[in-house]
Amino acid sequence: KLDFAGKLAKRLGAPVREETVHAVDRVNLSIRKGEVVGLVGESGCGKSTLGRMVAGIMPPSEGTVLWRGQDVRSLNPAEAREAKLRTQMIFQDPYASLNPRMRVEDIVGEAPQFHGLVPARGFDTYVDEQMRRAGLDPAFKKRYPHQFSGGQRQRIGIARALAVKPEFIVCDEAVAALDVSIQAQILNLFMRLRQELDLTYLFISHDLSVVEHLSDRVVIMYLGRVVEQAPAEQVFARANHPYTVSLLSAVPRIEARKRAFTTVQGEIPSPLNPPSGCHFHPRCPHAHERCKVEVPALKEIAPGHFSACHLNDRA
Ligand code: SF4
Repeated sequence: KLDFAGKLAKRLGAPVREETVHAVDRVNLSIRKGEVVGLVGESGCGKSTLGRMVAGIMPPSEGTVLWRGQDVRSLNPAEAREAKLRTQMIFQDPYASLNPRMRVEDIVGEAPQFHGLVPARGFDTYVDEQMRRAGLDPAFKKRYPHQFSGGQRQRIGIARALAVKPEFIVCDEAVAALDVSIQAQILNLFMRLRQELDLTYLFISHDLSVVEHLSDRVVIMYLGRVVEQAPAEQVFARANHPYTVSLLSAVPRIEARKRAFTTVQGEIPSPLNPPSGCHFHPRCPHAHERCKVEVPALKEIAPGHFSACHLNDRA
């Protein structure tokens, strides 16, 4: 409700205006076991907020998060602990999420030791195994995070997440800070781990090309709302929503796309004061009067393919 400057002003007694941001609005998202869902949108669209809610880091002010079909607020302490352990989050900046004063072996081994997942005698072997899985040489386990490159630090974050035997991993812009060649290595690692450990992912990115090859299903968000979701191949071959089409046009490809070239015009509006009707209307090349007043519903336009655009009512 208040940004840092607002909170500071309030503490100093200055008059401030509190405003509510609906960072995530009317979103209904289900993720099946073993599935990889790519969640895409520009920064400020609410995708990270949604990821944090799904990961249990941030409770929604309204609505429900279900874990294995059960409302997380109704879980008993043992079930809540289980849900917390089985859901892990990997962030964009691995360095910020790693304690610089801890050795890698302690970073990776802290949570499994705390939760009694590994006997004291098997600790070293267990840490080595997680490091190897993440593509790190256990010979370096006595080192500190600053002694590793950005890609290796992300691998440390992955080893730490794997150490508590997760089933579901939320990756929030997990490769955004890395060079393209390192990005590809980390994305391949995620896919290999999916096969080996039967993992489920919610893969959050501002970049459609990052999620293209690893997602089963892609969900596109704009200013807190889901505007399109479909199996990945349909999004890339038959995108329906004008916002998705413009995001796709910005993705460089070898083969020419069959659609007209458009790019997203202008800046994403402030979520404090989103446009009326379809939030995308000020930037949409197809906007008409109805778009300014009426919120388009997310409708199924083909099996498993949903889009929220009034143009679909004209067909
Ligand atoms: Fe564009 Fe209107 Fe469709 Fe929104 S509802 S995407 S403004 S055509």
